[in-house]
Amino acid sequence: MQIKRVDLFPISLPYKTPFVTSYGTMTHKTAVIVQIETTDSVIGWGEASLDSFPGYDAETLIGGLHILKDYLIPLILGQSIITPTQVPGLIQAVRGNHFAKAGLEAAIWDAYARTHGVSLAQLLGSVVGEVPRQRVAVGVAVGIQPNIDATLRAAGDYLAAGYTRLKFKIKPGADVEILGEVRRAFPDVMLMADANSAYTLDDTPHLAQLDDLNLLMIEQPLAYNDLYEHSLLQARIQTPICLDESVKSAHDWQLARHINAGKILNLKPGRVGGLTEALRIYQIQRDACWVGGMLETGIGRAMLLALASLPGFVIPGDISATDRYFEQDIVDQRFILNTDGTLNVPQGDGLGVVFQPV
Ligand code: MG
Repeated sequence: MQIKRVDLFPISLPYKTPFVTSYGTMTHKTAVIVQIETTDSVIGWGEASLDSFPGYDAETLIGGLHILKDYLIPLILGQSIITPTQVPGLIQAVRGNHFAKAGLEAAIWDAYARTHGVSLAQLLGSVVGEVPRQRVAVGVAVGIQPNIDATLRAAGDYLAAGYTRLKFKIKPGADVEILGEVRRAFPDVMLMADANSAYTLDDTPHLAQLDDLNLLMIEQPLAYNDLYEHSLLQARIQTPICLDESVKSAHDWQLARHINAGKILNLKPGRVGGLTEALRIYQIQRDACWVGGMLETGIGRAMLLALASLPGFVIPGDISATDRYFEQDIVDQRFILNTDGTLNVPQGDGLGVVFQPV
């Protein structure tokens, strides 16, 4: 398979409701859709999930466009691709910029699967020697709400819709008390918290109060680039720590496991530079990882569902139905939550969806 042409589509989709985390409020989903065309005229799409503000990660939409156009795409054009797993090697001269790289790599995975007449889920399964599932259990990430009543209402609505695992964004002043109320209202639900690096080690006694709430995990309580202090915190709290921001490679995850900086990993292919690295991480300890998301458009969501279809993922991913996010998506089909809290994995060739710019 040879890459003939690459086009970039920056997009900005309004969320149905603004999403509030400890680092800010997001009103729009921004991303760059990467479209590649092979010399056999096969088209593939990938989503570089780049925020306009460098709050989750240092990368931005404008910076990602520059890196893709001026550095990454020239390294790929005209290359013969034997297997998508060789792509990271082709672009390794460019350091960092994982979300930009992941978008380009995803488009190549999609085109490769379409060229061979298989779904992306089947292709990923063949790489790790597993049979993908056709539906996957999914959870939902709930932004910080204005008060406890609104939080309880959101929790009730998502549970009624069928979601089986709720993740609440937290920050100092909006954490233990609110989650305690949610736990009292819903004693048996799979519940977790995501701090997005809003705390320090000085908050250890406060965070230890979460131990009474039987949380599945607390995600990235400490600094976005820290592993060591997470290991100190994990030694002092019972709630399992899940790492997100500070694990950007299989190497980071190996180090984190070695020093017990966290027991679980939110695996976002974009954060680790693409599906090849994500598969490498998955194979280190399958049941310790679950598939996270960046509130992707339908292009990125179809890719995440294909990854989450691998049977080793046991914790429901952050991959919600279309109506959770957008009035109008940029693909030809909507993702609808099944009554058992699952989403269907697209079964068509490649991603199984078609890009339709709004
Ligand atoms: Mg997170």
